[in-house]
Amino acid sequence: MNYDLIIVGGGAAGFFTAINVAERDSGLKIAILERGKEVLSKVRISGGGRCNVTHAEFIPNELSKNYPRGEKELKGPFHTFMTGDTMDWFDRRGVALKIEDDGRIFPVSDSSETIINCFLSEAKRLGIEILKNHVVKNFYPNDAGWELQTNQGDFTGTKLMIATGSSPKIWKQLGDLGLRTVDAVPSLFTFNIKDSRIANLPGVVANASVKVKDSRLSSEGPLLITHWGMSGPAILKLSAWGAIELNTNQYKFEIIVNWLHQYSQQEIFEELKELKAQSLKQQLYTYSQFELPKRLWQSLVLASGIKNNTRWADVNKAQLHRLSEQLTQGVYSVKGKSTFKEEFVTAGGIDLKEVNFKTFESKKHQHLYFAGEVLNIDAVTGGFNFQNAWTGAYIAAQAITTG
Ligand SMILES: Cc1cc2nc3c(=O)[nH]c(=O)nc-3n(C[C@H](O)[C@H](O)[C@H](O)COP(=O)(O)OP(=O)(O)OC[C@H]3O[C@@H](n4cnc5c(N)ncnc54)[C@H](O)[C@@H]3O)c2cc1C
Repeated sequence: MNYDLIIVGGGAAGFFTAINVAERDSGLKIAILERGKEVLSKVRISGGGRCNVTHAEFIPNELSKNYPRGEKELKGPFHTFMTGDTMDWFDRRGVALKIEDDGRIFPVSDSSETIINCFLSEAKRLGIEILKNHVVKNFYPNDAGWELQTNQGDFTGTKLMIATGSSPKIWKQLGDLGLRTVDAVPSLFTFNIKDSRIANLPGVVANASVKVKDSRLSSEGPLLITHWGMSGPAILKLSAWGAIELNTNQYKFEIIVNWLHQYSQQEIFEELKELKAQSLKQQLYTYSQFELPKRLWQSLVLASGIKNNTRWADVNKAQLHRLSEQLTQGVYSVKGKSTFKEEFVTAGGIDLKEVNFKTFESKKHQHLYFAGEVLNIDAVTGGFNFQNAWTGAYIAAQAITTG
């Protein structure tokens, strides 16, 4: 079968490419080849079934800072298509979106079905062929464009878009075509920590800064204590930025947590001395200071060797010093990772040096395009991974219809 454009992968990036191409040039014959029984299955489960489509960051350079892999390369593309364009794209197709307090953007319906229905009805309206249960086994260039072998026969396409997400088999085939790829490692995970200071505190959240010892990796934000260790934005950001380095360490490393991230140890030590002077008769343990969650404060007081009935008047300088250390420089041993269930992502994919980011086309092979997670681009949690798929697909669609 012959097509003007074949898209391998019926996910977010595949559909967004197909719809934009068909809308720009209704004369093109387009097929999406999807190996699964269903299309858009990741969209369905995304964002806890609500589909976090993008994030309310409207400055291209700021938006790109959320991509540990892809930051530099996406700056240019975001000037062409980013958050506002995504919102407008869905709005023009009757999908109302809302911005939540933390910046995440969802359909007003709070259901990923709304996004799926939009894509399916647009594909139908535009005459895009969706071929399910079609596993692409091999592809290579020929005189007319691209030849594809699938479990259901051969296909040819003048142009080819690879939008297969994290697929080691496809990366291997691209390797056979001479393209460099980067091995996959997990990104976005939580830290396993067994430590008496946090053992009885699951559910406690504090605004903290976290630094990986002997490394330049650091982050800050809400830190959630869990049954198995630590999670929350501060930890997830660190896991994304450190995906490769922490994998090299086999997920065994030490972190330094400052539970009062805006203050240094010295500042806190001075504050504690001040508190001692003011609150002589009160017991240290009873009232939390610095707006720390009370249970966390109490645990850190005990960890500093201060008994729960000690009065401020009786606490000595060494104990105050230890408390300031626990509050701002506590060292915790990470002994492994756990999957972050809301959104798990892998780093790795097509080496970004292989791609022309003005067109999302291969530098080595003409009329071979990529978008979405197949590229070595990934982001922190919050809607940024889909934004990468929309941006790449949109720009590739422009190039496919003009090139
Ligand atoms: C549980 C979960 C929740 C998430 N929630 C969010 C969220 O709310 N917001 C956000 O921004 N990101 C989220 N993400 C990440 C986001 O889903 C991905 O970044 C995005 O789906 C990538 O889209 P894609 O089209 O590149 O790849 P995919 O969605 O993975 O689509 C690739 C498609 O290609 C098909 N395929 C692969 N190989 C072949 C082959 N050989 N032949 C034919 N077809 C093939 C696959 O079956 C698949 O359908 C979440 C991820 C997970 C796992």
